[in-house]
Amino acid sequence: MSSPLDALAAALDRRAAKDPAVFWWRDDDAVIPTPALDRLLALSASHAAPCLVAVIPKPTGPDLAAHLAGRPLITVAPHGWQHSNHAPPGTKKAELGPHRPAKLVLEELSLGLAKLQTLYPVQLAPILVPPWNRIDPDLIGALHGAGFQALSVYGPERPAALPSLNTHVDLMDWHGTGGGRATASLVSDIVAALDLGLSAIGILSHHLVHDAQAWDFLDQLLALIAGHPGARWASAPDLLAQRRQTV
Ligand SMILES: [Zn+2]
Repeated sequence: MSSPLDALAAALDRRAAKDPAVFWWRDDDAVIPTPALDRLLALSASHAAPCLVAVIPKPTGPDLAAHLAGRPLITVAPHGWQHSNHAPPGTKKAELGPHRPAKLVLEELSLGLAKLQTLYPVQLAPILVPPWNRIDPDLIGALHGAGFQALSVYGPERPAALPSLNTHVDLMDWHGTGGGRATASLVSDIVAALDLGLSAIGILSHHLVHDAQAWDFLDQLLALIAGHPGARWASAPDLLAQRRQTV
């Protein structure tokens, strides 16, 4: 029986004899436990897929921390400070853009990191996930001093003052339907990422806005990666440890 993911399975078949393709998974915008988050956690557990959950520090609290505690596949990273937009109307949204004094932005980021370190003493990874995947390049050099060990945005990794752990395939069609992107388009992006030879392909999800298509695709992708000898998952902490060695 043919499946929309056959093209990806075929691409992975070609990898099976060599090193398996490495995938990692980031999900954004968690604040409190929700049914959507439970659905994501169930998928992660059933396919043994590690997930980096980007948590918005200011509005979150102990409810989410208690809910995520004791789940070894789940790592938490700070998603900016409060996911508020400071860019002028008509320009791309950004919390960490050049629109405010760097000192103020860095103070907020340090506050957010410290708050999550207290809430997640075991599960926190000091990886900054900028809201809207945007950050003023001039801030990056100061992130290590603010306690961060890596940066995670969207798109190919570029040389920077801090190791990058980026996502490359976004499940959502933000500028079109607002729902999950079509399977054929997602598969084509993943196959293209495989052809680029990335050391790890980052899958980006947003549990709060998934429709049936996004959930179905995620389920199928996670099942394929879990069961295919040409693919394997890596956790964000494992990838971070590798990248710190190579920088
Ligand atoms: Zn976000």
